[in-house]
Amino acid sequence: MTAKSLAAYEPVVGNVVISQLKQLAAELSGAKIVHINSTRLGGGVAEILHWMIPLMNDLGLDTSWEVIEGHGDYFHVTKTFHNGLQGNPVFLTQHMIDTYEQTVAENFKRLRPTLEEADFVIVHDPQPAGLLDLCPQRKGKWIWRCHIDASHPNRRVWQYLRSKVQHYDASIFSMPTFAQRLDHPQFIIAPSIDPLSDKNIDLPQSEIDETLTRFDLSSELPILTQISRFDRFKDPLGVIEAFNMINSSIDAQLVLAGGGATDDPEGAAVFEEVKEAASKNSRISVLLLPPDAHRIINALQRASTIVIQKSLQEGFGLTVTEAMWKSKPVIGGNTGGIRLQVYNGYTGYLVDTPEGAALRLRELLRHPAQMRRMGQTAKDFVTQNFLLTRHLREYLTLLFGLREGLANHLMAG
Ligand code: UDP
Repeated sequence: MTAKSLAAYEPVVGNVVISQLKQLAAELSGAKIVHINSTRLGGGVAEILHWMIPLMNDLGLDTSWEVIEGHGDYFHVTKTFHNGLQGNPVFLTQHMIDTYEQTVAENFKRLRPTLEEADFVIVHDPQPAGLLDLCPQRKGKWIWRCHIDASHPNRRVWQYLRSKVQHYDASIFSMPTFAQRLDHPQFIIAPSIDPLSDKNIDLPQSEIDETLTRFDLSSELPILTQISRFDRFKDPLGVIEAFNMINSSIDAQLVLAGGGATDDPEGAAVFEEVKEAASKNSRISVLLLPPDAHRIINALQRASTIVIQKSLQEGFGLTVTEAMWKSKPVIGGNTGGIRLQVYNGYTGYLVDTPEGAALRLRELLRHPAQMRRMGQTAKDFVTQNFLLTRHLREYLTLLFGLREGLANHLMAG
């Protein structure tokens, strides 16, 4: 379970960091903050909100988490938004827009008092973005937090979403290259992990060994792992291709593990494709995990020799941070937020193709000392940049700035 008290993080980040957060939060004491996203289970946004809500409360902010409720049609439309924002050629019809707006309106009816009263509303990704238009009586500042690589969006999708997000008071992106032309201040805040969550806490070796036994994995052979929702942007088939290229000369195991998210309707089809591709190589294990398999994922990451995240597009890639925190070198797709984390030759390697991934896998597996060095650098890098305390500090600073109108002042200046 996530540790709910900030004090628990002192041994990890030091008391100065904790004191600084308390000092900042005191300025916002009692502020009502609402986060809204579209799922409590699966994916990086839910992962972050699970620790962020309790810790904001612990800091004296009155913080709640609301989730958009919708049916299959609505999530089909929002997945189309997601794919379109990431640059896929998608087709957006008026019927899809109507479906989206109807679901958002139904949710607004339910959430209206909370949203009107809040001092800050932080809306995550496109799914709830349309709520602002329906809330003319709002009292607080509204922030659109985009977790997606929106650097080259499909024009029609962005045209529509822009009309929904441009009236927000600010937006947050994970990288400068994702920012868009919008008439409000834009901030760059990278995501982070909770080092004390079940996903990231130290585990006894016995639990790691049991996990390997449970999934029929050998502790004698190197383990190469990609943990991801079954999503084409994560390129699981490319990972299998890369593994097949090295597997004739290097004896190793590949683990592709993941589940779905309640707001992702495409997962089942991708899972079947992956299983089919993996069925030709007995050294590949495809594990379908329940949404709460945090300790299992933790154990698999810790048991790994190398972690792969060969995404074709990636907003950030929390799985990369999680692996680096466990001192693993990462072979990551040369895209989006993975580039903030993986530095060639220092914390892992960035690759563009299955051939590139195969080359780097082979190189690392043949040089264990290099792998260990990279793993240590990776852990230090996460400690300095991608832990939740840095993330909270940036959020608090942004909220304070918005409340004081500093952002507008800066814009005008
Ligand atoms: N994750 C999980 N179960 C799964 C697959 C992923 O708990 O079956 C977690 C993973 O450990 C990470 C998050 O979900 O914390 C995925 O975040 P990321 O930014 O890597 O990708 P997203 O799914 O948001 O695109």
